[in-house]
Amino acid sequence: MVELKSVSAPRSLREIASYHAHIYYEPASTRHIAERLRLWIGERFLVRLGSWHDTKVGPHDRAMFQVAFGKDVFASLVPWLMLNHGDLSILIHPNTTNPRRDHLADPFWIGQPLPVHADILSEQAEAEEPLEPNTTPHLPA
Ligand code: ZN
Repeated sequence: MVELKSVSAPRSLREIASYHAHIYYEPASTRHIAERLRLWIGERFLVRLGSWHDTKVGPHDRAMFQVAFGKDVFASLVPWLMLNHGDLSILIHPNTTNPRRDHLADPFWIGQPLPVHADILSEQAEAEEPLEPNTTPHLPA
């Protein structure tokens, strides 16, 4: 009987505290599309809509805003974004204790992938504020 030399257990879903969707746009040409998408999201999903970043911030290569959401929202919001992102690129990543891995190794893209700048990402998560949704959904997804 052959014994495997390095058997590692799969990572647990308990590692994931929440998710982010980073919605990218061009300030000069597609901000209005991003504004409409942001409005639609706020009308339909219990999420936290982040600030507008019309200039590049953090590891992100283009203007964007962040949508933070809980695990219970993933199964409805993410497929909805697949259908409604238009031409915008969206990065979906889990939030664990390792932001570098979350953004570089474990995320996925809706639409065209964009560069993510590794140099600024830490292996250690900073203590994040508890996720407080700031939307008041009143329309069906
Ligand atoms: Zn993020």
